Amino acid sequence: MARMQHVPTIAIVGRPNVGKSAIFNRMAGRRIAIVHDEPGVTRDRISAPCKITDHACKLMDTGGIGARLSDGFAEQVAAEADIAMKTADLILFVLDSRDHLTPIDQSIADHLRKSEVPVMLLLNKADHEKQDLNLGEFSGLGFNDYIFLSAAHGRGFSELASRLDSFLKQAGAPLKEEMEETPVEDAETAPPIKVAVVGRPNAGKSSLVNAILQDRRTIVSDVAGTTRDAIDIPYLHDGQPYVLIDTAGMRPRSRRDTSVEVFSAMRSEKAIRRADICLLVIDIAAGITQQDRRIAGIIAEEGKPCIIIVNKFDLFHPNAPRKERMAEVEEQVRRELFFINYAPFITTSAKKSEGIEIIFKVITRIRRESAALPTTGQLNRLIQLAQQMNPPGTSSGSAKRLKIYYVTTAVDPKYSTIPVPRYVLFVNDKNLLTDSYSQYLRNKIRENYPAPGIPVIFSARSRV
Ligand code: GDP
Ligand code: GDP
Repeated sequence: MARMQHVPTIAIVGRPNVGKSAIFNRMAGRRIAIVHDEPGVTRDRISAPCKITDHACKLMDTGGIGARLSDGFAEQVAAEADIAMKTADLILFVLDSRDHLTPIDQSIADHLRKSEVPVMLLLNKADHEKQDLNLGEFSGLGFNDYIFLSAAHGRGFSELASRLDSFLKQAGAPLKEEMEETPVEDAETAPPIKVAVVGRPNAGKSSLVNAILQDRRTIVSDVAGTTRDAIDIPYLHDGQPYVLIDTAGMRPRSRRDTSVEVFSAMRSEKAIRRADICLLVIDIAAGITQQDRRIAGIIAEEGKPCIIIVNKFDLFHPNAPRKERMAEVEEQVRRELFFINYAPFITTSAKKSEGIEIIFKVITRIRRESAALPTTGQLNRLIQLAQQMNPPGTSSGSAKRLKIYYVTTAVDPKYSTIPVPRYVLFVNDKNLLTDSYSQYLRNKIRENYPAPGIPVIFSARSRV
C-alpha cells in the first residue's frame, strides 16, 4: 500500500461580504461558483486545490456551507467555525480592513480563539498601500499572524503564498511535483463506510464526533460532499476510510423550521438514508425520550445497520457497580427501543473520550457479519423448517392458510459497504402474513445467523 500523504486543508472563514469568494477564487486560480441555495453543495464548490502554493494543499470555503444553513448569524457562524476547526490544518480568517469590526467578526473570533488549529488574519480590501498601516482594532482580536490583501487587485498574494509555503513545509506537506508522482493512497480508493451520527439535540453528537476526530492527523483533508443536513467528514481509521455524516451543529434553514424536534428528525432522516450504518446517540442521563424513539424508528424503517451509542454513561448512576449500571441500561434500551432490537449498544462518555475505540471495532464486526449472512439455499431450508415447527395459523374468518413457497434475497452489494439483505418471501397470499409470523421468522433467522447490528428485512409477494 502506498504511504498515506497528508494533504493539508486550509479553510477560509469570515462573515458574508468580506471577500471570501474573491480570495478563494484567486487562490484556486479559477472561478468556482458557490451556489448558496442548492440542496447539495458538491465537492468542487467548496473545496479546490490551492494554486498559489508550492506545496500541495486544499482550500475549503466553509461559507459555501454555512450561508444556507440558517437565518441566525450566530448559529451559522458557530457552525462554520466548527467545520473549519474540525477539518482544517490552517484557518484563514477574512476581515474587511476598510470596515469596523462587527459583532459577527467578534463572534467568529471568539470561536476561533478556542481552536487548536492556527489562525491567520486576512485583512482584505486593502486595495492601496496606505491602508496597510491601520491594523487598529484588528490587533485586539488575539491573533498574531496577519496579512493585508486585496483580492480585487491581487495585492499581497505573493506574500500570502510564501507564508503558506513556510507553514505547509513545516507541517510536512508534500511538494506538488512529489504528489503527482506518488500514487494516491490505496485506502482512499477503497469505498468508505458512511457513518451517520444522529440523535436528538444535546445527546452528545458533536462531542462524539470531536472525540473521534481527536487524532486530527487521521482526518483525510477533504470535505467530500456536504449537504445542508449534515457535514461529511472523511476520516481514516486503521487504514479503513470512513465518512462521518455529522448532523450536529446544523441549524434550521428558515424560521418556519425552528421547531427543533421536527427539524432534527427531518435532517436525521436524510443522513440516515445516505448512511451505511447509523450511530444513534442517546443521552442516558436524561433518559430515553419520544424524540430518541422517533429517530430510532426512522433507522429501523429505513432498514439501516445501527449501533446505539449510550452516551453520558459517566453521569448514569456513577456510584453504582458497573454490572448493575449495564443491566439497567440494557433494560431501558431494550424496553424503550424494542423495535430496533437488532442494534447492539455501546456505553460511552464522549466528553471523556471513553468507549470511542470500541465503536470502530463494532462497526468492523458488523461489516464482517454482513458478508457472512445465510445463502439463499440455507435460508430456504431454515424457513421451511420454521414453517414445519410452527405452521402459520388461519387468520380469523378466513379458512386460508399462509403458505411460503420460497425465499429469495434481494440485495445489491454495490448499494452499500455494509449490505443489508432484503428477503422476499413468495407466498400464496401476502395478506395472510401477519406481523407476528414475520416476527417469528425474523427471530428464527436471527437465532441461526446472529448478526447484531444488521436488520432482517422481509417483504412478501403473492404468487399464484
Ligand atoms: P464573501 O461573501 O465573503 O464571499 O465576499 P465576496 O467575495 O462575494 O465579496 C464581497 C464584495 O466585496 C464583492 O462585491 C467583491 O467584489 C468585493 N471585494 C472582494 N474583495 C475585494 C477587495 O480586495 N477590494 C475591494 N475593493 N472589494 C472587494
Ligand atoms: P449535540 O447537540 O448532540 O451535538 O450535543 P453536544 O455534543 O453539544 O453535547 C451537549 C452537552 O452534553 C454538552 O454540554 C456536552 O459537553 C455534554 N456531553 C456530551 N457528551 C457527554 C458525556 O459523555 N458526558 C457528559 N457528562 N457530558 C456530555
